[in-house]
Amino acid sequence: MIRENLADVEKRIEEACSRRGRDRSQVTLTAVSKTKPLELLREAYAAGIRDFGENKVQELTEKIPCMPPDVRWHMIGHLQRNKVKYIVDQVYMIHSVDSLRLAEEISREAVKKQVTVRILIEVNMAGEESKFGVRQEELISLVQEAAKLPGIRIMGLMTVAPYVENAEDNRLVFRNLKQLSVDIASKNIDNVSMDILSMGMTGDYAVAIEEGATCVRVGTGIFGQRDYTNRRPDI
Ligand SMILES: *Cc1c(COP(=O)(O)O)cnc(C)c1O
Repeated sequence: MIRENLADVEKRIEEACSRRGRDRSQVTLTAVSKTKPLELLREAYAAGIRDFGENKVQELTEKIPCMPPDVRWHMIGHLQRNKVKYIVDQVYMIHSVDSLRLAEEISREAVKKQVTVRILIEVNMAGEESKFGVRQEELISLVQEAAKLPGIRIMGLMTVAPYVENAEDNRLVFRNLKQLSVDIASKNIDNVSMDILSMGMTGDYAVAIEEGATCVRVGTGIFGQRDYTNRRPDI
């Protein structure tokens, strides 16, 4: 089932790329495997997936040693400062940095472990109360301050767009995030690149790619619906 789902997602990614004259290699498909058992991750791995996204520290640290070492792990969920130490040298990138205090903690742990951590700044584009992410008005100052910290490298921006029935309804959200990244890139801030734009999920990744996404985070479209009923709290 995973293989068929992936073939379908891959086809849609290629179509979206070609609609905009983009090369397929410009878009990374991150398979969001949260709540899913290792068997399914292994199926996805066997089908060629190397980028996996998780949103809980405990689940991430349990899965990492069970998967091949060439997997790139993406932390895409809200990250508490007291858990940074468990993942800083384990993940390929942290997508969900939305405060200077969190960036400072990542920096501190990265220096301690002598690694450089790739981070994305998460932006709350629609200003939804229920969402994590920095507000657009605060983005530039966060980027400027975080850029001064050792041990981290700002690679771009990430957003979780609103849940919508019609993916077209998120087109402007994606277009605006792209514009923000272009604006920041033009400032040529030291230690900041805006190469990565992490946006688009199962319902809207094709639209996100049309608007410039370089990383789409697809869970349900690959692994099927998630079942949260027996989920342990993240402790
Ligand atoms: C769960 C999750 C996804 C994947 O959502 P789907 O709709 O299942 O594709 C993407 N990004 C983040 C931050 C998530 O938490």
